[in-house]
Amino acid sequence: SVSVTLEHVTKRFKDVKGKSDVIAVNDSHFVIEPGELVTLLGPSGCGKTTTLRMIAGFELPTEGKIYIGNEEVTMLPPNKRDTATMFQSYGLFPHMTVFDNVAYGLKLRKIPHEDIVKRVNETLALVGLSDYGDRAPSKLSGGQQQRVALARSLIVTPSVLLLDEPLSNLDALLREQMRVEIRKIQKELGITAVYVTHDRVEAMSLSDRVVVMKDGFIRQIGSPIDIYENPNSRFVAGFVGKAAFFPVRVKKQEANLWTCQLGEKEVVVERATTDVEVGTEAVLMARPESLRVTEKGKGKIEGKVRMNVYLGNSMEAFINTSFGEVLVQIDDPHAKKVFEEGEEVSIDFTPDRVRLLNEN
Ligand code: ADP
Ligand code: MG
Repeated sequence: SVSVTLEHVTKRFKDVKGKSDVIAVNDSHFVIEPGELVTLLGPSGCGKTTTLRMIAGFELPTEGKIYIGNEEVTMLPPNKRDTATMFQSYGLFPHMTVFDNVAYGLKLRKIPHEDIVKRVNETLALVGLSDYGDRAPSKLSGGQQQRVALARSLIVTPSVLLLDEPLSNLDALLREQMRVEIRKIQKELGITAVYVTHDRVEAMSLSDRVVVMKDGFIRQIGSPIDIYENPNSRFVAGFVGKAAFFPVRVKKQEANLWTCQLGEKEVVVERATTDVEVGTEAVLMARPESLRVTEKGKGKIEGKVRMNVYLGNSMEAFINTSFGEVLVQIDDPHAKKVFEEGEEVSIDFTPDRVRLLNEN
């Protein structure tokens, strides 16, 4: 497999009225390693699709360079790049059978018929559609159509697979199954893949690494664990998972221990994920599973239980505090004392489970 490199890539679109340009992608700079699956994650309009289309060659960068392996492809048309793209809409040919849909890319390449038959059958088997070659696409479910689209991308044995929100037309259960399947196939083939999504669960569960984007800028690149545990901004923290943010004043730092004023209490935090200066205001970030509900007066933040939501293996407690509503996840609620709705409680945490960040 091959790497994909973006070197200071910027894409500007002319405004329709020719006034100010839109900077869809702003100085994007990263390397995707051979065989790696990297997700571009961010809210709608942040430049994910534009980035993918530049890698595919459907869009040319305004500035910067793109490499596939060692070859510079910045200005090459899509058919001169060793990539295959799978879009959200399947784009299957309705008048052709599944077999012919999948064979299409090979027929264009004038490959001998026996080889085509062999490879189509192999690829249909890979996506679990061995028995469906004779069907019309309209006789398939949404998930099956999606598999045909995947087979059609894979049959040309591209070095790089590009996927733009490929599962967003599917219902939740199917999306989860296909997610696992795409990941399996990608690993099996050892193919380098770029996957665009605005769904954090999809990004977290699929990726070797995630590129978090906002307004054309890359805000953080890291493994799913990294961006979840150590987000480098409030935006990333909130976009990749649930989190509570508390305003604090930083009072002192000794090695990796930060002492902060949180309301009336002094609290200690074991790690800062951005530059934080003593004497300034900062934000203490806490994931729901890092917080604990305890007796009134025994923790660090006083509050009142507004609502308990029972989820089987866990429970979510929504606690009203002077800092706003705070979500606490309670694992294995049967084994613990559960505080009732309306009860006055306190929220507690340990220094190693919370993070200190800059506001922004
Ligand atoms: P995403 O896929 O993250 O939703 P896009 O890459 O589609 O975002 O778009 C990024 C920004 O670039 C948006 O502001 C969008 O309106 C703009 N944009 C995308 N394509 C074009 C285009 N062909 N012409 C003008 N503006 C565009
Ligand atoms: Mg998009």
